[in-house]
This record gives sequence, C-alpha cells and structure tokens, in this order.
Amino acid sequence: MSYMEISNLEKSFDKNEVLKNISLTIEQGEFVSLLGPSGCGKSTLLRCLSGLETIDGGTFLLDGKDVTETPAQTRNIGMVFQQYSLFPNMTVWDNLSFPLTIQKISKSEQKERIEEVLKIVGLTDKKKAYPGNLSGGQQQRVALARAIVSRPKVLLLDEPLSAIDARLRKNLQIEIRRIQQELNITTIFVTHDQDEAMLMSDRICLLNEGKIEQVSTPIELYTKPKTRFAASFIGHYN
Ligand code: ADP
Ligand code: MG
Repeated sequence: MSYMEISNLEKSFDKNEVLKNISLTIEQGEFVSLLGPSGCGKSTLLRCLSGLETIDGGTFLLDGKDVTETPAQTRNIGMVFQQYSLFPNMTVWDNLSFPLTIQKISKSEQKERIEEVLKIVGLTDKKKAYPGNLSGGQQQRVALARAIVSRPKVLLLDEPLSAIDARLRKNLQIEIRRIQQELNITTIFVTHDQDEAMLMSDRICLLNEGKIEQVSTPIELYTKPKTRFAASFIGHYN
C-alpha cells in the first residue's frame, strides 16, 4: 500500500466537472508536481486533498487510513498558497506559534519547534519581524515554516513561487527541495511552470481539463510523452 492513495476522485462545481476520476498513488517522502495549464484543476485537487473542499466521489487514503471524510483541521496536512497568507499584524514568531497553540502544544515545545524550523528556513534573525517588513521570498519561507512546524504528514504547495521574481525563484526551488528531503516529507507541488516541475520533482503528474494525462518521472515525460496533449504541452515550452 502506498502512503497516499487517491482513487477515482471527482469534483464538480455545479455543472462544471473540474476533476474527473483522478487516481494517483504517492510514496512516503516523494516530491510530486501537479503540472498543467491554468484552470485544469490543480488548486482544486490540492484543496480536496487538504479537506478545504468536499469531494463528490472517490476516496483518499493517507498512511493507511481513510481520510475522505476527515475534516481539514485533523487531516494533518500542511499547505502553502501562492499569495502570502501570513497574519500581517503578528510577528514571524507569533505566526508560527499560532497553529501550535491551536493544537494545544506546550509553550516549551513550541519554542523548540519554532527555533528548529526557523533554522531550517534560514530566518532565525527575523523572528521578531512583521511580514510587511520581509521580502516576498522571506514571507514564503515563513509560510513554509508555518506549514512544517506542525509536523504534517503531507505538504501541499500551491504555486508558492509564482509571485516571487525570477532571480530569487531558482534559489527557493533548490531550498524547498533541500528542506523537503531533509525532513523526508511527502510533498505535492503545484506549478504551471514546466521547467520548475522538471527541476524539482521525483515524478510529475500532468493534468489537463480535470484529467490525468500522464504520471511519470521528469525525464520520461520529456522523452516519452504518452498523449498528444503531453507532447504538445512539453513541446510548447521548448
Ligand atoms: P488551476 O489551479 O489548475 O488553475 P483551479 O483548480 O483553480 O485550476 O480551477 C479549475 C476549474 O474549477 C476552473 O474552471 C475554475 O473556474 C473552477 N473553480 C475553482 N474553484 C471554484 C469555486 N470555488 N467555485 C466554482 N468554480 C470553481
Ligand atoms: Mg491554481
């Protein structure tokens, strides 16, 4: 059995079938990108996995447990969005302690965990700063720190770098991958950027119009696209 088992997942908004029969298995510690054009359903799929969105059909097993009906708060899944979603009126430290306080984690353990994740994302000297005084890249590192401080089973990243300028994006791509490997945390990374997916992923899941076109390693997708869409999507960006 795989760490994540998504079977026949379906999601519609009114008559708009946004996800059609999505089946995907992911192993513990894997980094999988969801790649595809704007509007193909990437964010919706992540939101369904996180529990922020209900599904119309299918099942989701996580670490051997059926979490299809489990509410978002207790799924133990961390998420980072494209737009910085930090609390602007709280310091970096307070942004990180907030989810831990909700989980009733003791102040002394909070301190230990927060110091640890700040070290991992390289922002130890910013713990008293407010988000507004940080660069976009630093804010996303705080958002990442906040997602991992709860020690989630899975990390879901929805285009976390698309609002970051190109110069910094490369560094952050490498940094996210380093952190993910260091913590061995199973990660799904959404992007519409083929190069980003190619660079970062163990495997790529290519989506089009709510359907999976291909799931394979970057090199396989590149050299052996299985569908006409896959071939043209990959070709289009070269
Ligand atoms: P992507 O992230 O790949 O760009 P989305 O998952 O955001 O795509 O959107 C997929 C489709 O679902 C689009 O047609 C979008 O308009 C629709 N959609 C997404 N969220 C909602 C919602 N809350 N209500 C209605 N339609 C939605
Ligand atoms: Mg999206």
